[in-house]
Amino acid sequence: MTLTRFGLSLLLLIGALLPAYANDIESVRVWPSPNNTRIVFDLGSQPDYSYFTLKNPDRVVIDFAETSLSVDLGRVDNTNAFLKRIRTSTPKNKRATRVVLDLSRSVTPELFAMPPTKPYGHRLVVDLPYSPMQAPQVVVKSSEQSDRDRDIIIAIDAGHGGEDPGSVGPTGTFEKNIVLSIAKKLQAMVDNEPGMRAVMTRTGDYYIAPNRRPELARQHKADLLVSIHADAFTTPQPRGGSVWVLSTGRADSELGRWMERTERHSELLGGAAEVINDAVSERYLAETILGLSMDHSMATSHDLSQKVISEMRKITKMHKTRPQAASLAVLTSPDIPSILVEVGFISNPQEEKNLNWAEHRERLATSMFNATKRYFKAVPPDGTLWASLKNSTRTHKVRSGESLSVLAQRYNVNVSSLKQANNLTSDVVRIGQVLTIP
Ligand SMILES: [Zn+2]
Repeated sequence: MTLTRFGLSLLLLIGALLPAYANDIESVRVWPSPNNTRIVFDLGSQPDYSYFTLKNPDRVVIDFAETSLSVDLGRVDNTNAFLKRIRTSTPKNKRATRVVLDLSRSVTPELFAMPPTKPYGHRLVVDLPYSPMQAPQVVVKSSEQSDRDRDIIIAIDAGHGGEDPGSVGPTGTFEKNIVLSIAKKLQAMVDNEPGMRAVMTRTGDYYIAPNRRPELARQHKADLLVSIHADAFTTPQPRGGSVWVLSTGRADSELGRWMERTERHSELLGGAAEVINDAVSERYLAETILGLSMDHSMATSHDLSQKVISEMRKITKMHKTRPQAASLAVLTSPDIPSILVEVGFISNPQEEKNLNWAEHRERLATSMFNATKRYFKAVPPDGTLWASLKNSTRTHKVRSGESLSVLAQRYNVNVSSLKQANNLTSDVVRIGQVLTIP
């Protein structure tokens, strides 16, 4: 009896000592990227905040009203030379928390609150963008190369990243991790191929705005942009891959309209979708963007997407066996052929399992690589090594056991053009004979 009364008064005492804050900073995450450092504060409820910057040394000071801090800022994982330290400072009043970001140079911070989206709750996002002058190059090689016999440049874009996990599978697999893994495998294959070189829009777990992705491809004078994603749907049934190309009108399928509409992919929608919605702009689009380069890149995208589909069909079920069209931001570059590959539905339990299997991701990367190779072997861009190899005359000295049909197959030409190039009237070739390969 006495003990209970004592316990109760102790509780009341603790209650009086601990003021109830409206909000709490539960954790802090730092996402460094080549052009931006993003700091995310996870909060119990919607943040009430204000901020200002200070110079000498450069700082961003953020005041959270009615907020307690239950994370040790000294333990926040931060491998970033630009953001030197995250610490607290004396708040405006006892019920506020002041957080200071010590920086190595001045920036114009962008702060915005984000509502809960799976897997995160309420957040305050602080972006510290670097000016383009200060931005480290993703890959620095393109300018060193002469224009003759240059590499074919493939820009590989792993969707989402950092704070944006993309779609989430039934057992919690993040699309951003799956697609980065596939992108890195594809990068290794491309870099291993003489005459081809890969550039990555992102190489780690950080966020890049959708519009920025084709921009990066353009900066590197890419011949192709391949954006890699994994689908999700509200029901677990849909499965299979699909390949998307730019549409200058509204999406031409139910899935395409859903992709444009759905929240998960909404970040892919950029300026183009808005432009297309506007009748006046549509005329501008038709007259300006749909020039020769647009025709060329759209034709290329379409042709290439068919090749990707034919390669992917060998290793995975396809949700759509024809290229799909939608107006997605990552596909809006009029001058660079661009495709978006959805490697499967991460919302389908079996496909989630497959995508978590390294061998399957390797196969998906291989199918994209083979399709790209097939395409550029047939139509290498001007000035590339592949173009000059294609134009130079090839010869072959016939060895024992080789026939015209064997050689035709090896060089990927047909027998009749082989005969024509060598003025042959019959299918007979002799050992040691030198043939011109068309
Ligand atoms: Zn995606």
